Amino acid sequence: MSKIIGIDLGTTNSLAAVWQDGKSVLIPNALGEYLTPSVVSVDARGTVYVGKSAKERLATHPNETASVFKRFMGTSKKYQLGKQTFLPEELSALVLKKLKEDAERFLGEEVEEAIISVPAYFNDMARNATKRAGLIAGWKVERIINEPSAAALACQNVKQVEEATMMVFDFGGGTLDVSLVDCFDNVIEILAISGDNRLGGQDFDDMIAEYFLKEQKVDVSKLDPETIGVVRMCAEQCKRALTESQTAQMTVKCPQINATMEISRKDVVNFCARIFERMGKPIRQVMADGHISVEEISDVVLVGGSCKMPLVQQYLAHVLKRNDIETIDPDHVIALGCGVCAGIKERNEQVKDMLLTDICPFSLGIGVHDNANSGELRMSYMIERNSALPISKQHTFFPHEDYQTLVTLSIYQGESLYAADNLELGKLEIEIPPRLSVQMPICVRFTYDINGILEVEVDIPATKEHKQMVIVNKDLSMTEEQIQAKLREFEKIKISPAKDEKNQYIMDWGSRLYMQCTGELQQEIGRKLEYFRYEVRRDNRSLKRVQKYMMVYLGVVEGMVNQFIKLSENDWKDGSWYQEETEEETQEKREIEDEFRTWEKENYDDSDTD
Ligand code: ADP
Ligand code: MG
Repeated sequence: MSKIIGIDLGTTNSLAAVWQDGKSVLIPNALGEYLTPSVVSVDARGTVYVGKSAKERLATHPNETASVFKRFMGTSKKYQLGKQTFLPEELSALVLKKLKEDAERFLGEEVEEAIISVPAYFNDMARNATKRAGLIAGWKVERIINEPSAAALACQNVKQVEEATMMVFDFGGGTLDVSLVDCFDNVIEILAISGDNRLGGQDFDDMIAEYFLKEQKVDVSKLDPETIGVVRMCAEQCKRALTESQTAQMTVKCPQINATMEISRKDVVNFCARIFERMGKPIRQVMADGHISVEEISDVVLVGGSCKMPLVQQYLAHVLKRNDIETIDPDHVIALGCGVCAGIKERNEQVKDMLLTDICPFSLGIGVHDNANSGELRMSYMIERNSALPISKQHTFFPHEDYQTLVTLSIYQGESLYAADNLELGKLEIEIPPRLSVQMPICVRFTYDINGILEVEVDIPATKEHKQMVIVNKDLSMTEEQIQAKLREFEKIKISPAKDEKNQYIMDWGSRLYMQCTGELQQEIGRKLEYFRYEVRRDNRSLKRVQKYMMVYLGVVEGMVNQFIKLSENDWKDGSWYQEETEEETQEKREIEDEFRTWEKENYDDSDTD
């Protein structure tokens, strides 16, 4: 049997590893380097360049060169390189083909099978596109693995720990992925994932370039694309130099610019404040979603080239309040993990068999009538995002009206409070006898398996009616076209008049927090928002005090979400969080809280069961 190769197909750089002599070994490319830039260039004669040379051509031949196409895997985005057009998966295939040649040269034999890692948030479209890319490149691809699982696997293999709860902080060229991974016995389980797919090392490059051009008083609008490419490249070099020392020279020499200046780490902290701020968000989110505090994390695993920046490490140490953050090998961890995975698949005796589990990256639920009676459907979640797969959950619902004869179950994917803002996956209709009233239970079960297949079952005990529907994974993702369609749809929406702005702001703020939270706190926010909406619809004179109440409430939730406070019920239930100021305010808060609870009792009759 020929060797299996593990591949980290990165946005910026790709690399491969193989299990050899009892350990994972990196495969060098033709230049003797491990990292191959994920850049493809095609010249006028149709010659294809992959890797470092193509990266150089990015600045020189921007119209013939493509990079960061991984971001669009699974979409139909077209890249025009010279006379030819390519899909993202076709460009990835060219990178994979190059890695295959390098592996065969290194091993001196043909190889056919590859294990490729993908970000945990990759939907099925992107995963299938990755598989297709492998196939086009001539690989046999039986297994796709999640990048954080690969990183955890590599770490566990090196450290030989039995049990660990790791935070994998993967900061690459264009994306930031933060994951919590649990290792116990022979299982590696992803507990929660979060990230910012628009934040990476490139943002530092852009900010450094911008700062440089501003300080040098260069009119950017007069620069040609080649010059901009050069400035970006110099900015990246300057950033790398700043990894080695406190200050660095940035020099740009090209027909349009000839200048040099000194930039310090301190400068970077100042003009990149926004980047650091955005780095903190997914960390907080993942801790809240995973219900984990800083103390419970046993290892912080740094992955990705941008983690080499001392500023990034210092910022992390500050946010996570720990000084034991070590960098093992941020550039290579994922590939090394893929190599371990290859060893496992080869059934190698020197490597312990590990089971890698998966999670559901988005929430799934059904639309139910909202209690503000606005006619809109609200999300009722069946399966929350970050649930471990496979999973099966049952909830009980009741008809909306007496003497209703048809129940329509609309199934959605997404994190927005209102169903219309999420992606509809399907509909299930069940006829019911009219004599049955709102008291009649309807049992709904969602079963979501490891292959991304969702099964929806409905049972009505009173009539012994049973209905079932299977939604196959290919529908469980939003295509670029759908996103575009949503965008056009949103463009048509009129902006709300200024007098409603505060109400709108409260709804938007609350909806964002709703999206960020899970479990009971999320439900509480949802109810308060609906209650608020109900008050807005009534439009009575007391609306002002409810607005004030909501502002304070959301402020407290924001504070909790953005600090690592473990969410305990007493922190937010029944207003114990409220900072009283005057007798009057205390009284007012109690009144609103009572009104809310009464409204809640009338409108919610929970009978959820697992
Ligand atoms: P990806 O996972 O997106 O393929 P990588 O993990 O290879 O990306 O990280 C690439 C990013 O890391 C680039 O933005 C690059 O500039 C940055 N990087 C690499 N080495 C260094 C370094 N020594 N100092 C600072 N940034 C670095
Ligand atoms: Mg990476």
